[in-house]
Amino acid sequence: MSQPRVQADLDWDSLSGALRVRVTVTGHSFRQGEALAQLRRRVAGVPSAIGECAVTARDADGPIAIEPVHDEGHWRWQGRRATTGPVALEYQVKPRRVDALTTDGHPPVDLRFEADGITGSTSAFLALPDLPNDVTGTLSWPGPSSVGDRHRSVDDIQAIHIMAGTVSTFTAGALTTYWLSPPTFDVASITRHASTMHAGLADLFGEPTPPLSIFLRRNPFRGMSGSALPGCFIAGWHEDAARSDRLQAFVDHELVHDWLGVENEHDNAVWFNEGVADYYGIVLPHRLGLLDDETFHARVDEIVRVYLASPWRDSPMTDLIPQFWDDPRIHQLAYVRGMLYLAELERLLAAQGNRVKLDDLMRRVRDRQIAGSAATLNDWKSWVIDAVGGDDAQLLEGVLDGQMSMPAGDLWRTGRTPDLETVPVIDPGFSFSTFVTRVVTGLDPEGLAAQAGLRDGDELLDLPPYSHLLGVPADHEITVTARRGAAAYTHTFSVGRETVLVPQWARPQPGGHRPTVR
Ligand SMILES: [Zn+2]
Repeated sequence: MSQPRVQADLDWDSLSGALRVRVTVTGHSFRQGEALAQLRRRVAGVPSAIGECAVTARDADGPIAIEPVHDEGHWRWQGRRATTGPVALEYQVKPRRVDALTTDGHPPVDLRFEADGITGSTSAFLALPDLPNDVTGTLSWPGPSSVGDRHRSVDDIQAIHIMAGTVSTFTAGALTTYWLSPPTFDVASITRHASTMHAGLADLFGEPTPPLSIFLRRNPFRGMSGSALPGCFIAGWHEDAARSDRLQAFVDHELVHDWLGVENEHDNAVWFNEGVADYYGIVLPHRLGLLDDETFHARVDEIVRVYLASPWRDSPMTDLIPQFWDDPRIHQLAYVRGMLYLAELERLLAAQGNRVKLDDLMRRVRDRQIAGSAATLNDWKSWVIDAVGGDDAQLLEGVLDGQMSMPAGDLWRTGRTPDLETVPVIDPGFSFSTFVTRVVTGLDPEGLAAQAGLRDGDELLDLPPYSHLLGVPADHEITVTARRGAAAYTHTFSVGRETVLVPQWARPQPGGHRPTVR
């Protein structure tokens, strides 16, 4: 028999709203009971689109009876008999509808309706047979997608973003941005900025600049989110937070993911991969002249505030990993720790007069990716020990144990030392989703919000987004109007009981406010 091969053809029916999927598998005979198609129920925190849909299959002998064998983790369909010759599978997936109350909308890969079209990643809807990742795979889709010419394997075609409907585009250099909902920010300037950053990354690794797509998705719920796939990244935005500078910061972070990453088994390297994206997403645009010193420091400062304002700031990374996707304050913390770890490492390399720079270590990470076998965290650690010595490498590990020393001094080598500012540790006493949906959930009876009179289920009409609370003064209070049934109450409470000293490098703006970026 010839080598196995999978061809997926997608077609969106705008009238019925369904996405039709046809998968042809050649060169593989399925045993009776073998899965003809399967897909995880949840993909990185969002539900997959397929659900209990009807899958039909046929081969040279005619229709194949299908038995759904869904379990907790997967949607799965088995054939009731063995197959002969090419197997054709067909099913339809329904994009989901999201609204202001959606809380599982991050990262932005779920297949959903937006404006007059749809947007989603194949990881969230393409059910395929369980074949080895390197089996040849191709995908055809008539609309905009991140396909490019990069897909070669089954693994690749499960990481493609598609969009359909009335799609707008803007191109600068190697980069094209696609969107369905009219943006409230300057897409042209963001695309140009991102194009320069993308070329800067190519230059860092001495590689040509490949084509890249950005897919913008408007979230009807509050919050921004991003995800990177080969050849593209996806940015979810909401008008409450979507200023051009925020989007730019966001895009810079996502671009780095397209170039750098180590193997991330069971999320053990999230802190590293996200830290790298945060670090180079700030340091590189500054180096390239895309950010002036003030904006650079404003970005760094905000990240440091995220870290120190988190109630989990002293928790060891091993405690945080299982909760990564439960609360954005937890996975953001991992990002920031990773970034500060890299900043400290760079400082250490420079202080030792070391000829190896952080960039050089990153080139090794990149080389391994290009060679097709991503570096592991253990590889990384051994390179760091070679470069700085075992004792110093041990000190850096403090970042992960939660015993990190406060970032200080001219850490960013811009000739500035930070001011120390007192800010609240943000813990009003309800779950994070309350900031997203503005409906109180997970109320802590001993917490500030409960003591101010709030109850679970109250709708908070004017609760500010979480990001607006980062860096507020220690005595800052929120006043919200809470709707409970037909009645409305006004409540005032402070954002947290504890305070913490935060180093800030940017100069305060008039009125004493710290500049905000994200
Ligand atoms: Zn990221």
